Amino acid sequence: RSSGISVTPILADLQKNCATPLPVLRHVADAMAADMRAGLAVEGGSDLKMILSYVNSLPTGNEKGLFYALDLGGTNFRVLRVQLGGKEERVIDTEFEQVSIPEELMFGTSEELFDFIASRLARFVEKEGGRFCLPHGRKREIGFTFSFPVKQTSIDSGILIKWTKGFAVSGTAGKDVVACLNEAMERQELNMRVSALVNDTVGTLAGARYWDDDAMVAVILGTGTNACYVERMDAIPKLPDQTLNSRRTIINTEWGAFSNGLPLTEFDRDMDAASINPGEQIFEKTISGMYLGEIVRRILYKMAKADDLFGDAIPEKFSKPFILRTPDLCAMQQDSSDDLEAVGLILNNTIGVASNLNARKVVLEVCDTIVKRGGRLAGAGIVGILQKMEEDSKGVVFGKRTVVAMDGGLYEHYPQYRSYLQDAVTELLGSEISKNVIIEHSKDGSGIGAALLAASNSKYG
Ligand code: ADP
Repeated sequence: RSSGISVTPILADLQKNCATPLPVLRHVADAMAADMRAGLAVEGGSDLKMILSYVNSLPTGNEKGLFYALDLGGTNFRVLRVQLGGKEERVIDTEFEQVSIPEELMFGTSEELFDFIASRLARFVEKEGGRFCLPHGRKREIGFTFSFPVKQTSIDSGILIKWTKGFAVSGTAGKDVVACLNEAMERQELNMRVSALVNDTVGTLAGARYWDDDAMVAVILGTGTNACYVERMDAIPKLPDQTLNSRRTIINTEWGAFSNGLPLTEFDRDMDAASINPGEQIFEKTISGMYLGEIVRRILYKMAKADDLFGDAIPEKFSKPFILRTPDLCAMQQDSSDDLEAVGLILNNTIGVASNLNARKVVLEVCDTIVKRGGRLAGAGIVGILQKMEEDSKGVVFGKRTVVAMDGGLYEHYPQYRSYLQDAVTELLGSEISKNVIIEHSKDGSGIGAALLAASNSKYG
C-alpha cells in the first residue's frame, strides 16, 4: 500500500469484503462449471441460459468470395464487406462504415428502424467496387450480428425477446429479426440474404478461429459481458434432437447472469436494487464496464459523508448515478505522479470535489479494489469454462495450446484490469497449465467473424 494513507474503516471493510484469494476464485470457477452443466441439462436449469447458437461449423480459412456483415448492438451500427481468398490469400480486402442511429428511431416502429438500416446498407452496397467481386447469378450474403436478447431458432432466424440498452422500438419483440431485416431489404429493393444470425461473442470466436485453429472460447468485456465456447453435441442433454449432423457446436453462455459465490458488498446490493433489472445480471454488474465506475462512486459518496473525505461540501452531482465512469477510473489509475494531479482533476471534473493528496490516495485504493475484484472474477469465470471443457474431454484444453479470444473496450483499454484477470487465471491453473492457455485480444472483433459465418453457412455451399 502507498505510504502515508490514513486508512478509514470503510476502506478496510471494503478491502476485506472484496478480497478474492485463491479459495474464492476456485469456488467461483467451480460454480461456473456446475452452472454451465445445469443449464445444458434442462432449459431453465440454471442462471446460465446456455443458448444454442446453431453455429455448427466455424471458419476454416478456406472460405472464398464476397460477404457482408451488419452489426447492430447499440446506438451505432456497422456495415462491412470482405473479399475472402481462401487459405493462401486470406482476407483480400475489407471495407466498413459506421452509421449512428437517429435517436427518434430508437423510439419508433420496427419498420422505420429496419428500413433505415436497409437503406444505409443499400448505399454501402452501391459503393462496392475495386477488389470486391460477386460471382454472376449469386445473391450477396450477410452475417447479421444482433446484440440484444434473442431466442435463436436456426442459424438464420431468431425471435427478439426484448429490446435493451435504451431501445424502445415497437413491434419487433416476439418477431424474427431476420425476417424484419429481409422484409425491409425487399422494400428497399435490395437483393441480399441473411445467411447467419450471430451473437457478438460467437462472431468474436469465429473471427479468432479464422486465424487460429486453437481458439475455443470467446469473452466480451465491454459495457456488458458475455462468453461462448465450443461444446460437444453429446454433452448437451437438453438438445431436443441428437441427430444433428455435427459433433460440435457453439454455446452462448449468457454468463452475465451468473451469481454464485461472488464476494459482494452493500454497495453492489444498493446499485442492483436501484437498477432497471434488480436481481439480474449480477456477474455483469460486478465485472463489466458499465458498472465499475458506479460502484466506486457509491463507495466514495459514503466516504465523503461519513469521513469527510473531500471536506464538508458534497456537490449535488456527486449523488448522480453513473456520473463517474469506468474510463475515469482507468485514467486515474494511470497517474503515477507524486501529487496525483490528474486524479485531482478528474475528481473535480466528474463528481465535482476538491481533494487533498490523502483523499486522492484513498480514491486510487478504492478504484484498485473494485477493478481487482472485477478482473480476478472475470479470470475465474474463464477458468470455469475451461475446466468444464476439460472435465468432459481430458487433455482437450489443458493438454495443448488453447486460445481464449477477448474483445470489448474494458479489456482493450484497462491495463490493470487485464493484468488482474491474467493473474487470476495463472493462479488458478498453476504455472505449467497456464502456459497452454493463451488469453488474447481478438483484433477485428465480431465484424469479420459474422461475415465469415455467412460464408461458412452460405446457401451456395
Ligand atoms: P460495447 O460493449 O458497448 O458494445 P465496447 O466493447 O467498445 O462497446 O466497450 C465499451 C465499454 O468499454 C465502455 O462502456 C467502458 O465501460 C469500457 N471502456 C471504454 N474505454 C475505456 C477505457 N479507456 N478504460 C476503461 N474502460 C473503458
